[in-house]
Amino acid sequence: MSPPVRLKIVQTGEPVLRQAARPLTAAEITHPAIEELIVHMRDTMRDAPGVGLAAPQIGLAIQLAVIEDREEYLKGIAPELLAERERQPVPFRVLINPVIVERSEETVEFFEGCLSVAGFSALVKRSRRVAVQYLDEHAKPQHLEASGWPARILQHEIDHLSGVLYIDRMESRSFSSLDNMGRHWKDLPVESVRAALGLG
Ligand code: ZN
Repeated sequence: MSPPVRLKIVQTGEPVLRQAARPLTAAEITHPAIEELIVHMRDTMRDAPGVGLAAPQIGLAIQLAVIEDREEYLKGIAPELLAERERQPVPFRVLINPVIVERSEETVEFFEGCLSVAGFSALVKRSRRVAVQYLDEHAKPQHLEASGWPARILQHEIDHLSGVLYIDRMESRSFSSLDNMGRHWKDLPVESVRAALGLG
């Protein structure tokens, strides 16, 4: 077995992150080149580590993303924080040509980050629940409903495919280095963070 391939993750400012990615055809999806790319994206996401990776982040303007939130990522996080974020493990999934077909009006706000805005984090409001239609790695249509953190991951990755980054949606006064986020904000309830930042 060859060692895992780690693709280069591009950073904000790279034009591909601002392009609308094109959909893949069924013939492309089942082509060995895409199969291989999916494996490399999975290994790159795990190595980062991250809970999602979209093709534009590795320089390709195609509608392909992978997601996975592993049990081991949740171990170091306090149970009350996990509960507040409704964060639970998400199995590895390949999302091709995904579309959000339903979203809740109810939103939730938490700190969010991105491998393409490395070293930073900010408060981002997202729909609490979404329903997504997509093709899997076998070009088979799938329907997925998610709530809480898994819904956030889906919205973040699908945004990437239309050239949108979380910094377009963030509460800009909360934009923080990861260091400072860990030092000042990480364990506070969001209302306290908002109050301290003058966000009412
Ligand atoms: Zn991202």
